[in-house]
Amino acid sequence: MADVTGILSFIKQNLAQDERAAATARDLRQVAATRAVLRWHDETGCPECATDPDGCSLLRATASVWPDAIGYREYWQP
Ligand SMILES: [Zn+2]
Repeated sequence: MADVTGILSFIKQNLAQDERAAATARDLRQVAATRAVLRWHDETGCPECATDPDGCSLLRATASVWPDAIGYREYWQP
């Protein structure tokens, strides 16, 4: 599988920040749901990640929640 460290690290870092900043139970459920989707994504072996992690539709859509965060790359836009 190709290296997905960059975009995955970005997503995990921002999820952790969102978790720390969560103001409501709904915010925490959103973080948990996103992590569940990422676990499913990892467990099923994404064919897009195998060929081009920066081109992965799911990772790009997930990362797009934080377009102004440090480390976001414009070419990740969905
Ligand atoms: Zn993928």
